[in-house]
Amino acid sequence: MSQAIMGRGVSVTFYGHAAFKLSGAGVTVLIDPWLSNPLLNTPVEKVGKVDLILVTHGHSDHVGDTVAVAKKTGAPVVAIHELSVILAQQGVAQVIGMNKGGTLTAAGLKITMTHAVHSSTVEEGGRLIAAGDPAGFVVEFENGFVAYHAGDTAVFKDMELIHELYHPELAMLPIGSHYVMSPAEAALACRLLKPRWVIPMHYGTFPVLTGTTEELKKLLKDEPGITVLPLKPGETVE
Ligand code: ZN
Repeated sequence: MSQAIMGRGVSVTFYGHAAFKLSGAGVTVLIDPWLSNPLLNTPVEKVGKVDLILVTHGHSDHVGDTVAVAKKTGAPVVAIHELSVILAQQGVAQVIGMNKGGTLTAAGLKITMTHAVHSSTVEEGGRLIAAGDPAGFVVEFENGFVAYHAGDTAVFKDMELIHELYHPELAMLPIGSHYVMSPAEAALACRLLKPRWVIPMHYGTFPVLTGTTEELKKLLKDEPGITVLPLKPGETVE
């Protein structure tokens, strides 16, 4: 099912939890592809052509099926330097390590790594390995459409800088609480980021992720310029 709402030449598919596919002008980017999450469980083959994979941090609900998707599609994986090294060791053929504040061009997209307030480790053989800092991504398409995937984060005042520097029209923000922002913090994040559209994520996957899209909508009632787009897992908006 696909709803035409944004009208900016880019389609956004929500695979559940924090996993998204963004496609525009023939270029497809996957973000935090935990495709086998309990909300949807999408087989890797179903995702189709992928040109680039972005991973915000090392936790298994974000790295998810990255290695399998990279192997299947041949797409390079962009992550913070330390996590990119770990993913290369896990069998990703092409990794692109970067760090916060930097921008790179890959598959015709401008990718900027942003700050995120969270933690980041990878579990290997029952041990936790430090995976560098957690991050978010700003993705700019050739037609100028800019999307921001916050990764897992608390709200932070420098989200104002993300607005000032990149003007994301679409923000994908966690709202589940417990490990990430709840709707209250996400509403403030929206006021700092000033996007036209917000897609809530990272809620409802587990019982502790209690935040709801209705709460966020209610808290943003006085912001007519910001539209909350609650996507069901598997849904696409254009
Ligand atoms: Zn996390």
